[in-house]
Amino acid sequence: MNEATVDVLNESIEAEQDSSSRETVRAFVNNVQNRVQERVGNIAGKEMQVVRGWLEEKLRLLDPTYEIYDTASKGAAAWFEPGTGRMVFDDRTMDRRADTGYWSRVRRHEEVHKNDQAHTFNRGAITFDGKVVPVHPVLIEWHAIRQSGQPDGDLTAGYRAHVRLGDELVAIAGRGAVTDALRTGDIAGLQETINGKDDSFLQESRILPASGHLL
Ligand SMILES: [Zn+2]
Repeated sequence: MNEATVDVLNESIEAEQDSSSRETVRAFVNNVQNRVQERVGNIAGKEMQVVRGWLEEKLRLLDPTYEIYDTASKGAAAWFEPGTGRMVFDDRTMDRRADTGYWSRVRRHEEVHKNDQAHTFNRGAITFDGKVVPVHPVLIEWHAIRQSGQPDGDLTAGYRAHVRLGDELVAIAGRGAVTDALRTGDIAGLQETINGKDDSFLQESRILPASGHLL
């Protein structure tokens, strides 16, 4: 591999990360390619392979219409904007040595939000086991994390706590019921299902012991 070209590519990526506020993946890779060409003149042969290898990997990793922005400055690796349908990823995804396994899980996570979840819910929280758990962010994040296969190592402490609460709800209501409710937005229906299960549990526990004493 041509070390000089790799350096020029890395510097061009860095320059684009620093200068652009927000642009599509397609625009980002085109601008980096132009920066490399400006630095070395017409690139050909092996030099072109280095740039092409990077560019093609990024276009496989993210959709060309997804956007690149310094989302880390807002404390996020990526986000989905329900109002506009836009998907926005941190500019570190464009680093030549970016962890493609990690970022493809982030992509799947955001695509769960975009494609597999309702964007309005008929109830804002679910009550089970004496806990009131908000749909946003706890249940929608549980869903995106579990469905994209993100291990604990990918997650902040706050997101790991969301996962634990979601798993507790699944232990009571079943995974299918919870994911159906998040897909359709019918959280009230899920609450009714849980209440039905809670009632039967309470009825059983109300049976008095033979001695008739309540502890
Ligand atoms: Zn999320």
